Amino acid sequence: MTEQQTKAYRKNIHLTFPPEISGKPIVSDLVRRYDLTVNILKAQITPRKEGYLTLEISGGEDNCLKGIAYLREQDVTVTDVSQRISRDEDSCMHCGMCTAICPTSALAMDIEARVVVFDKDRCTACGLCTRVCPVGAMNVEVENGGL
Ligand code: SF4
Ligand code: SF4
Repeated sequence: MTEQQTKAYRKNIHLTFPPEISGKPIVSDLVRRYDLTVNILKAQITPRKEGYLTLEISGGEDNCLKGIAYLREQDVTVTDVSQRISRDEDSCMHCGMCTAICPTSALAMDIEARVVVFDKDRCTACGLCTRVCPVGAMNVEVENGGL
């Protein structure tokens, strides 16, 4: 086994399934074929049968990368969750309100520096912070106008 295969890997990814494959057991293939641990963070199917899934995947790095490549081969659009969320650094006042609601501690107060640190890699794009931020500094890309 190579070093790359044994290195632990974890990533939050967002999947978009076109209607023609939304019924296929593609996510379970990640577990069966690539020995990944999959945690479904959010799931949605639109009236047009498009599917959206936000997943946390973890396992060996090599298998995770192969699993993501497999999803793309199946015509699933895969994006990094961190690309779907942003903070307007000019607007943020570091008030800390979002830190109380963030379920993953992606937003956390650095007590010494007195700033709210945003760790995108921990973010699951749940959107809760967008609802409490008094200045609208947090932006999450949404589908169908809903979170
Ligand atoms: S609630 Fe908004 S303004 Fe306050 S720390 Fe969070 S992102 Fe910044
Ligand atoms: S969307 Fe906001 S509240 Fe949700 S995990 Fe990301 S930073 Fe935390």
